[in-house]
Amino acid sequence: MTATLNDEALKKRQADRRKPLKARILFPMPLPEPFDYAIPEGMNLTAGDVVIAPLSGRSQRGVVWEVVPDEGERALKAVESRQDAPPLTDELRAFLDWSARYTVHPPGVFLRMALRHRDSAGEPRTQDVFEPTGQTPPRATEARAAVLAEAAADAGTAADLARRAGVSPGVVTGLEKAGALRRVKRRLDPPFDIPDPDRSGMNLTDGQKRAADELVSLVKRDAYAPVLLDGVTGSGKTEVYFEAIAEALRRSDSAQCLVLLPEIALTQAVTRRFAERFGAAPAVWHSDVSQVERRRVWREVAKGRARIVLGARSALFLPFTDLKAIVVDEEHDGSYKQDDGVVYNARDLAVARAKFAGASAILTSATPSLETLVNARRGRYAHVQLPSRPGAATLPQTEAINLREQPPERDHWLSPALVKAVAETLERGEQSLLFLNRRGYAPLVICQACGHRMTSPETDSWLVEHRYTGRLVCHLTGFSMPKPKTCPECGAEDTLRPVGPGVERIEEEAKARFPEARVETFSSDSAQAPGEVRRLVSRMEAGEIDILVGTQIAAKGHNFPNLTLVGVIDADLGLKGGDLRAAERTYQLLVQVAGRAGRAARPGRALIQSYAPEHEAIQALIAGDRNAFIDAELEARQAYGLPPYGRLAAIVLSGPDQEKLDQWSRRMAAAAPVTDGVEIFGPAEPPIAVIRGRWRRRILARADPGIDLSAYIAAWRTRVKIPPSIRVQVDIDPYSFV
Ligand SMILES: [Zn+2]
Repeated sequence: MTATLNDEALKKRQADRRKPLKARILFPMPLPEPFDYAIPEGMNLTAGDVVIAPLSGRSQRGVVWEVVPDEGERALKAVESRQDAPPLTDELRAFLDWSARYTVHPPGVFLRMALRHRDSAGEPRTQDVFEPTGQTPPRATEARAAVLAEAAADAGTAADLARRAGVSPGVVTGLEKAGALRRVKRRLDPPFDIPDPDRSGMNLTDGQKRAADELVSLVKRDAYAPVLLDGVTGSGKTEVYFEAIAEALRRSDSAQCLVLLPEIALTQAVTRRFAERFGAAPAVWHSDVSQVERRRVWREVAKGRARIVLGARSALFLPFTDLKAIVVDEEHDGSYKQDDGVVYNARDLAVARAKFAGASAILTSATPSLETLVNARRGRYAHVQLPSRPGAATLPQTEAINLREQPPERDHWLSPALVKAVAETLERGEQSLLFLNRRGYAPLVICQACGHRMTSPETDSWLVEHRYTGRLVCHLTGFSMPKPKTCPECGAEDTLRPVGPGVERIEEEAKARFPEARVETFSSDSAQAPGEVRRLVSRMEAGEIDILVGTQIAAKGHNFPNLTLVGVIDADLGLKGGDLRAAERTYQLLVQVAGRAGRAARPGRALIQSYAPEHEAIQALIAGDRNAFIDAELEARQAYGLPPYGRLAAIVLSGPDQEKLDQWSRRMAAAAPVTDGVEIFGPAEPPIAVIRGRWRRRILARADPGIDLSAYIAAWRTRVKIPPSIRVQVDIDPYSFV
């Protein structure tokens, strides 16, 4: 470079060197850009340092984004101090900048996620935790037993044990008084055990070995390498990606790996498998992990000492220093998309982070998203396939039950064919899963006298009846009320009737049909505390449950060896949504659910109840022909230029005043820059037009491939100055259309 510098540039550079420097500081808040500050004499600052600087009259924490020569155009306020914390690497800052630009959010909101659990001085180094003494308490209650079980698994603070057991902290202190628990001091932030990549793993089949070798050779490149690891449920994807992680760890003494999981209920089981393979438990990061533990993970990751991190989508923003591989487990899963607050898709951001870090990005799935499959087909991603289940295990035999021909009895939901299959499974001493992706007892409550439908006062959506709690609940906002005795419309008494089934109602029917069977429900309502999920899963594994009734939380990743029958109550449910991914999502979910059956040596069977079994998603499922479904779906998407053959972005405006909102929504739509290859639709009223007293309008932009839709939206937004009472949310690549 120096050779190409002419005299003038050289002089300028020498002059710059004599100039004082200023720091451009980004704050973890929704501000459009970093602000300039003077660097006081004697303070040595470099990009990435965490500092305190004055902002709007207060001392605020921020990060030095750049250090540049101060041209002296205006007087600057000075940085107050530099914090004793690991600096944010260039790689992480570039990733945060990219994420902000891509999702059209202010960069500070991504910085906030990266700093949320940073180390800070002056915090306590020990805490009081409770462990069992071995004494049985004089009064044994269910709550006490749950706490003791949690404490035996892992000592914790009173708040921690109470949360895990789903009880109040008073139960913990009560057990201390009764002599069953004792208080001990525990050092905070102990380092994580070091994983051993050369500890022997599972014996891989030839097919698995070939797939593992392909992944290992990608990791050995020490460069960005995206790859789809594609294999049916139960084909051993985890064991195969373990070998890629082992290779990544061998690359250096500080090498780090991140594994993203779609469902935190799975963490426990996966942690166990990591511990078996590597002789050390991974660092775990998700919303149910305590604040203290998250701080420990943050700090150990920043110091390069947490080598394997297992986490939810927000783990992407941890300050890794030497990231070699990112695994996105079940990459197609909709829960990677965050729809609230900062809107982003963790799957896409994971690939970007791998790119900045020069790491492998391993996307695994039995039912890859169409976006990822197209990337693999075009050669942008490597494609590693695991075709079959190992050993004796075979894919479940899948059949449709046509409900037009064999309807269930009135106010029942199990068809005669499904009832028969459950009875036979019970007879053999095996387990059944009845799947319905709907929480509660009934999705709708209607007055028999006047036809009034119970709707939420905050939104216009139906209220869902929950029998266990006796309440009517809005699943969108969490609003709930006791079920009234009289109709609020006509005043008639006892006329409010549930319509349609939720899992609680299927449980009721299963219990009535099979009074001898042990029936339980697995949904996000029945499993709120993390400990409850664990207990339910281990009871299922131990064969203490005969019929499990579950929502999609039961369909994800659990491995129940004695489960041989899966009954899908309503396969048409997801297909009615009418949004872009309705068929794709239904297909993926049904494959996942059906794949729960027969994972060990016993053959499995999946029965799919449907009023429209001729739908291509259901036909492909029965035929086990994924390509037929994908080809048909891709053809339809291509015809309309929809993802992955084009890009979508939504702008959702919301505000308390409907008229004003309509006015500004129209103005916003009219201000869209006119460009070839971009179409604007709307503003339209979304299916859920009002949430928490705020009306909503949606504008959709569709762009041809090759158009930088993020830049387009960013430019569009600056054209209209929207008043503060109206909120504008940008959703790049929207998943939810409600
Ligand atoms: Zn009524």
